[in-house]
Amino acid sequence: METPQWWERARRVMPGGVNSPVRAFRAVGGTPVFAARGEGPYVWDVSGRRYVDLVQSWGALILGHAHPAVVEAVQRAAASGTSFGMPTTAEVELAELIASALPSVEMVRLVNSGTEAVMSAVRLSRAATGRRYVVKFEGCYHGHSDAMLVKAGSGAALYSAGGGAAPTWAGATSVSPASPGVSPGAAGETLLARYNHLEDVEALFSRWGQEIAAVIVEPVAANMGVVLPKPGFLEGLRAITRRNGSLLIFDEVITGFRVGWSGAQGRFGVQPDLTCLGKIMGGGLPAGAYAGRRELMELVAPQGPVYQAGTLSGNPIAVAAGLATLRELQREEGIYECLEARARRLADGLRQAAKEAGACVSVVQVGAMLGLSFRAQAPQDFTEAQEGDAGAYARFFHAMLERGVHLAPAMLEAIFLSTAHDERVTGEVTEAARAAFAAAAG
Ligand SMILES: *Cc1c(COP(=O)(O)O)cnc(C)c1O
Repeated sequence: METPQWWERARRVMPGGVNSPVRAFRAVGGTPVFAARGEGPYVWDVSGRRYVDLVQSWGALILGHAHPAVVEAVQRAAASGTSFGMPTTAEVELAELIASALPSVEMVRLVNSGTEAVMSAVRLSRAATGRRYVVKFEGCYHGHSDAMLVKAGSGAALYSAGGGAAPTWAGATSVSPASPGVSPGAAGETLLARYNHLEDVEALFSRWGQEIAAVIVEPVAANMGVVLPKPGFLEGLRAITRRNGSLLIFDEVITGFRVGWSGAQGRFGVQPDLTCLGKIMGGGLPAGAYAGRRELMELVAPQGPVYQAGTLSGNPIAVAAGLATLRELQREEGIYECLEARARRLADGLRQAAKEAGACVSVVQVGAMLGLSFRAQAPQDFTEAQEGDAGAYARFFHAMLERGVHLAPAMLEAIFLSTAHDERVTGEVTEAARAAFAAAAG
């Protein structure tokens, strides 16, 4: 059966035809590509067409599709039972590995998604401080829990209807939620600041400092394109939260094991109180984790009073996939240097291709991810990120797809590389981009 027929069936039975909004292609137009299989850097659609995949399950894969070590681990785990609801030794090993990788982490709780990790970390921060407000940054995406659906990036920036009230940075106690169904109460305990604007955070603390439980941040923002923290931004957040008795939460769901083995916290040398993980740590299966210092994590049930549970948490197959992925990353000497070098060369190649085509594009690269923005300067906050030319991105996206390169079907998403994207593959991308930038500019 052809894609249009599948798409018709999908839309009849699933909202928007998809199980996660951005997949629906609404931001770029056209009919989504249905994935049939993947191998390394490539995906094949249901009609047998091959694409270089720069989405990599939205960053969840760093070894490429169907890596033999991961496939074998998953098969072995599945054959031994898919879920027990009892402790398993693999959970201990995964938690130990995470704690050994991330400088700020002593204890770990496994959950099923990044959304759950954030939701639980926020609850823990409120319990630990006895305070109610959480500061989040415009354009950062922290999953779809009620309190975090306020000026969120990624799909929430495109598809949610609400969020009408313009935030007044130094004054807003409550902003309207970004989705119907989120109660004003839930959204009202989230305070907004602009990414890279420490002065916003200072202003919020000078007014509500004693009531702020935590500041949550993507240490590199990767859901509004890729926005790097300005020098001093993360350090500033660390200092302000410490001074005010609030917690600093790093949402490393994307950056964890992507910008380096020790995450953004290792790369930038700033230690958060709590860390949220997901994506890579599940090796392409549903998994997440929240983690941190012992005295904080000991507040979580059953050791402490903060309740959080999960029937499938620490699922044996997800844990096996995550463990196989992390072990592969750990085993290979120099793997992150190699990823970095390839990503840097791709960034250079894309800049060169854009320049030759006369396209106005900025390219940001950090670790194994890149951000492409159709504007002259790399964005530094959500407002700037949204100033990118969405029409040009849509044209570029389709021109790349025609040439066999699969990018995220929305402007505010990152490009993700895997260890399978070697020089030949990134060369294919640069080659396709040469023509696609011309199409986008025209
Ligand atoms: C993807 C993402 C989440 C949500 O994770 P899910 O597994 O989709 O629930 C949270 N935070 C960040 C930074 C993410 O990129």
